[in-house]
Amino acid sequence: MKFKYIFLITFLIPVLLQGQSINKLIRLSETERIEKYLSSDELAGRKIFTSGIDKAAQFISMEFEKLKLGYFSKNTYLQSFQMFKPSLVSVNGRVDNVELETNKVAVYTHLEKVNIDENSGYQISSIKKGDNFFRLASQFLSKKLPHVIFVDESFASQFTRLSNKNPLMASHANIAFVLSNSIPSHFAIEAIHTVTTLNLSNVVAMIPGKSLPNEYVIFSGHYDHLGVISKGGSTVDSIYNGANDDAAGTTAMIMLANYFKKKNKNERSLLFVAFTAEESGGFGSSYFSEQLNPEAVVAMFNLEMIGTESKWGKNSAYITGFEKSNMGQILQENLKGTAFTFYPDPYVDQNLFYRSDNATLARLGVPAHTISTSKMDDEPNYHKPSDEIGTLDLNNMNEIIKAIAKSSESIISGKDTPTRVDTSQLK
Ligand SMILES: [Zn+2]
Repeated sequence: MKFKYIFLITFLIPVLLQGQSINKLIRLSETERIEKYLSSDELAGRKIFTSGIDKAAQFISMEFEKLKLGYFSKNTYLQSFQMFKPSLVSVNGRVDNVELETNKVAVYTHLEKVNIDENSGYQISSIKKGDNFFRLASQFLSKKLPHVIFVDESFASQFTRLSNKNPLMASHANIAFVLSNSIPSHFAIEAIHTVTTLNLSNVVAMIPGKSLPNEYVIFSGHYDHLGVISKGGSTVDSIYNGANDDAAGTTAMIMLANYFKKKNKNERSLLFVAFTAEESGGFGSSYFSEQLNPEAVVAMFNLEMIGTESKWGKNSAYITGFEKSNMGQILQENLKGTAFTFYPDPYVDQNLFYRSDNATLARLGVPAHTISTSKMDDEPNYHKPSDEIGTLDLNNMNEIIKAIAKSSESIISGKDTPTRVDTSQLK
């Protein structure tokens, strides 16, 4: 009998200690405190270019500061960058010596003055009759090299919906669309805009790795949301609090930063990132992805909407793009014997893998997945003012944060390295 007890005690002590430490370090009261502030009316829905999102960025920075986390670059947690909002003053041009009507040219640029002709070195392309106009137009708009696209006149009515009003990043190439049935041998376009400069910031912190400091594991969530949208009278709630989307993921990211800092055992370097501008085009993750070598990123845990119960109930979540690397299998393996299950994304037709900040890194080959619990076929508060803290299951969310910590263990220790995403297979 005695022997048995001794065996049990010595066997149990490390398990108990480990359990204790995760329960001590990932506390419900802390999860609630952070989630409560990020989703509060004070931040007015954290819309980009508002003081509400600036307050959120300050708060996240202060949390990083309290934890004494390292900087990723320079001496600040704010990874700031500019965007440029153009407003058209004039546009004119000629195509084979025929004057172009202004409604037959659309120039996307962040520069005040642009002159383009056949000798400017722009790539020339076309959208032909019968093509999918909006799909091709948006593909051209994401090109990294300057393009002139000649659009078949059958798209005249759709063409009028092209307009260069949205803020663009400095890395955005000039793209000009011209309504013309053929590609002319000579053309000239001049566009003049006034350009307003706007500031955005990701918030980034680092815990350097002990033995593999040049290999990174990212934990991220986006801290922007939709802001205030008035649709009814003054009695109607118009603040889109985004408690689940994505104050929840941002809270989890901060909680994990606290956990790993106190554990102080990571062999790989850990980056904690609150992305800006996810809701308006993923500009934050785009800028972030240009500030590091994607080859050095071993894994990305993007956390989106983990505040409600998943379709399987408590203690479960899903991983988007499950089959695109073996990261999901590694996480599942690390959760074996626990109360948690991470499933492959059950909503594949909704393309969730491509709809969050993980996609930007995945397109560079990084095993980058989003972990979520959101029931995308039945989430009553999704993108509504009613996405408030009161609709979240904070206890379950706190348990999910623990599960994410556990699931990442063998990647952080350097034992497991997920396979890369094959970018040729991406949509
Ligand atoms: Zn989101």
